[in-house]
Amino acid sequence: MTVRTRVAPSPTGDPHVGTAYMALFCLCMARQHGGQFILRIEDTDAARSTAASEQNILDALRWLGLEWDEGPDKGGPFGPYRQSERLDIYRTYVDQLIEAGHAFHCFCTTERLDAMRAEQMRAGQTARYDGHCSRLPAEEVEARLARGESSVVRMKVPDSGTCTVKDLLRGDIEIDFSQVDMQVLLKSDGNPTYHLAVVVDDHLMEITHIIRGEEWINSAPKHILLYQYFGWPMPALIHMPLLRNPDKSKLSKRKNPTSIRFYERMGFLPEAVLNYLGMLGWSMPDGEEKFDLAAMIAHFDINRISLGAPVFDVEKLKWLNGRWLRESLSDDELAERMISWAYNRDNLMKVIPLVRERVDTFSEVAPLAAFLVEGMPTVTPAQFEFKGLDTEGVIQVLQFALWELEALSDWEREPINQLFVSLAERMGLKIRDVLAPIFVAISGRPVSPPLFDSMALLGPDMCRARLRHALTVLGGVSNKQAKRLEKAYRELSSGPAAS
Ligand code: GLU
Repeated sequence: MTVRTRVAPSPTGDPHVGTAYMALFCLCMARQHGGQFILRIEDTDAARSTAASEQNILDALRWLGLEWDEGPDKGGPFGPYRQSERLDIYRTYVDQLIEAGHAFHCFCTTERLDAMRAEQMRAGQTARYDGHCSRLPAEEVEARLARGESSVVRMKVPDSGTCTVKDLLRGDIEIDFSQVDMQVLLKSDGNPTYHLAVVVDDHLMEITHIIRGEEWINSAPKHILLYQYFGWPMPALIHMPLLRNPDKSKLSKRKNPTSIRFYERMGFLPEAVLNYLGMLGWSMPDGEEKFDLAAMIAHFDINRISLGAPVFDVEKLKWLNGRWLRESLSDDELAERMISWAYNRDNLMKVIPLVRERVDTFSEVAPLAAFLVEGMPTVTPAQFEFKGLDTEGVIQVLQFALWELEALSDWEREPINQLFVSLAERMGLKIRDVLAPIFVAISGRPVSPPLFDSMALLGPDMCRARLRHALTVLGGVSNKQAKRLEKAYRELSSGPAAS
């Protein structure tokens, strides 16, 4: 048997460290067995998927050195590798399930479903589709479809009995079918849901080992049933422990930068980031913490994956990066890395137009432009004291700006400018008052090159991280405060939804 693994990110945001973590373990598993590692793009959520996000994910995985054998950009014998290009395939398989009586058309309205769920909750039951449409006579279904009535396709799930999820790491996990919903497989727009697409694709792409996050354990019974309905062999399942914030909650961008590009922008070495991700879920037989990808592949043993909750600790990553920098790179190599990172002509050409009007001598350039290559500027609460805005107001501006910037796809000077003009207007504040805290958060200095140009140059990951850093310096945003801010933000007219 050829071992085939896959990582299947959805291109709906920044390239997440969690995706790289899964990709690393998939790659090690495949390489160690002389098999293949596949990259599949799960973009069936058309409204949220973007080509830019897909490209970012590809670039970020490549930056880390996680090269795939088959994928949307390089093809392969099992393509296409983008789910949006496989819609006809899914429809054929849904038809098969309906014909065999394993799936059915469901015409229930949102109102009926809401009422049903509310009733189930009241009775202390698990909210679960009650099978209403699975009992409709065939002629009625035909007639309603012929009339063009809107419908989805759901899978049948037994009312009773237990599903045994066999996980290579965790052993047998028993889940009662009464806890498993009759999952929608095909949406009313004809697009598949994740659950259908993942099963069809993993089978057709001959995936032998599914390595994914533990948040999918509860979905496994649906997938196992689908494999049974189709009569397909079940791949091995490995549910990896999720990466955590230091407070043990699921790793989130509110508490930790989660975008791989942020770590690139901060000047971390890809080898160190990869080493750190490996270290979070796995250990070398000799206990050495510093290891490269080749060593991890050579010694990889799925049984050495640890099931403890791995905390993503930026300080520890920094420590490891320091070791890589000092122990593994000569002065020459370090210089080369720094040149390709930021200290190069291309970057200088971007900085010069911003500083030439503000300096008289070369020696004044570095102090003025240093924040463009810095990580987090040193800022203090005192720098955020302004006449027009109290601390509460400053926090609101920083948080709202952060949400707005998270939704900004065109990261250029003019759209950034427009964003702030519109935000100030909607908040009923002077643009000057909105920009004052942003200026401090981004540059950390009283004098700096123009704000929007600087932000365009710094890029989204670094700018957002600095705004978050400023919020932390101001005492952080508690969960309660975040809820209040979200509410106030939603009430602002025509802003993008808080994420
Ligand atoms: N698209 C899913 C995700 O991004 C993939 C889950 C899986 O590996 O099955 O989490």
